[in-house]
Amino acid sequence: MSFKNKKILKLILCAVFTVCIFLFFLEDIILAQANQIKGIKKITILHTNDMHGRVLEEKDSGMGFSKMNTKIKEIRKKNPNTILLDVGDAIQGSEIATNSKGESIIKLMNAMKYDGMAVGNHEFDYGYKRLLEIRDMANFPLMTGNILNENGKNDFKPYIIKEVDGIKVGIFSVLTPDTQYATSPKNIKGISFLNPLIASNELVKELKEKDVDLIIGLTHLGASKKGKYSSIDIAKNIEGIDIIVDGHSHKEMNMKVEDTLIVQSGKYTENLGIIDIKFLGNKIISKKASLFTKKEGDKLKEDREIKALINEIIEENKSKTKETIGKSKKKTYIVKSGDVLFRIGKKYGIGWMELAEFNKIKNPNKIYPGDIINIPIK
Ligand SMILES: [Zn+2]
Repeated sequence: MSFKNKKILKLILCAVFTVCIFLFFLEDIILAQANQIKGIKKITILHTNDMHGRVLEEKDSGMGFSKMNTKIKEIRKKNPNTILLDVGDAIQGSEIATNSKGESIIKLMNAMKYDGMAVGNHEFDYGYKRLLEIRDMANFPLMTGNILNENGKNDFKPYIIKEVDGIKVGIFSVLTPDTQYATSPKNIKGISFLNPLIASNELVKELKEKDVDLIIGLTHLGASKKGKYSSIDIAKNIEGIDIIVDGHSHKEMNMKVEDTLIVQSGKYTENLGIIDIKFLGNKIISKKASLFTKKEGDKLKEDREIKALINEIIEENKSKTKETIGKSKKKTYIVKSGDVLFRIGKKYGIGWMELAEFNKIKNPNKIYPGDIINIPIK
């Protein structure tokens, strides 16, 4: 091929490439313009449930808070009309959570800018008084509509109404009455649990009277047959709930019952739940649910702010544990993501086998972030 022909070929390829790129974005451009003309609005609901304090990324489990927050920020940037919700059982279940009686998790959820959270059964595990302290630490409302204190009053908001881009979003919450049997009786002394079906019915009625455009139920009930009440019962028996974001049964759900979309995002930050709702004026025209999985999040960078906060919490915990066991002949180490016993041992000049024996670890490959390793002092 002559030099001139090569040049022409290059020019043609360049032109084809430019047209391709243009066509690739054209659909988005047209869609965005059409939406504007038609008055279509989009609200995105992000949801988590049953995180159980699993703050750190785990190899065979969740993506952890810092990677998840990178995704949350990305979605918020794309659509500022985004609401972030949790459906309970967040503050208990890991060393990081228990060491501060749930405070560390609330600190992180504040930094992630949660908009609301349902009270789950495990939120009672540090006692009711502590739960009220946790409620006050949160920058977002802790909600539940079916418990009463010993004076017959509800210490929590049964629902909230959020106005997003001119759309009124009503969000209510109920939890499983099985909480009565699932936690130590001293944690729920004087508390009565009401039937979640009756409570939901009342709350939906109230929200309808307040003219909301979208009703979301955060149900820490689950969908298993074991419990007396399930999120599916709520959808079947109560009219007018657009979306139920469920928790408690640690399941991935995306189903329609009557006109209600029911979703649940699993557990331990294994997924971030996403629901896109489109409105024409103030009427819902579509609801679409999906999950952003841990695998999809593998390549994400950790969010710096959340990562720094987690490290700070781990350091605080370390000194606390050191204080409490000050006089005993051991130090402690909290396992971080990617740690192996061999390297932890090396840090303290101890063989991994000795470390495994000292900690009664049967399989040295099975140590997980948040685990505490005791280091013998020689
Ligand atoms: Zn639960």
